[in-house]
Amino acid sequence: MKDKEKLHIEVEVPSKKIHVEHVYCSKGHSLCDPGKKIDGYPAIKVKAKFKNQEGILYIDPVFGSYDNIEENITIPKGGVVEFFCPECGVSLRDKDSTCQLCASPMFVFHLPKGGIIEGCQKKGCLYHRMKIVDAEQQISRLFENDTLESYL
Ligand SMILES: [Zn+2]
Ligand SMILES: [Zn+2]
Repeated sequence: MKDKEKLHIEVEVPSKKIHVEHVYCSKGHSLCDPGKKIDGYPAIKVKAKFKNQEGILYIDPVFGSYDNIEENITIPKGGVVEFFCPECGVSLRDKDSTCQLCASPMFVFHLPKGGIIEGCQKKGCLYHRMKIVDAEQQISRLFENDTLESYL
């Protein structure tokens, strides 16, 4: 199935059917924490900032499921959080995207082989999507300074 890497696919993933095991910050640090499980799967660990609070958010790795765990931070429903890599502190915000439902900033997680998962940073907004694109397209996107929307 090596050819899979060459396909340009946008996936409509049925909710709660798959979970992600390999997500990375833009610098390549793994965000999956085998030490913390949600629904039996390693959670996605990010540093979360909301107003003057800073804590850890464990994100449900099951696509379309939202059993997130807040640690040392309390985010009210409707609060817009910022996510950072717990390892290097890089912002996980996708500067080129805003939520199509509520216009909040979006986070982006990088998948192996150039795919991404992006989602709304507003608590309670369920907008998210997964995209699988090949590396060549990602690179040309950088040079053309394209936005993600142009691939929708
Ligand atoms: Zn990092
Ligand atoms: Zn939203």
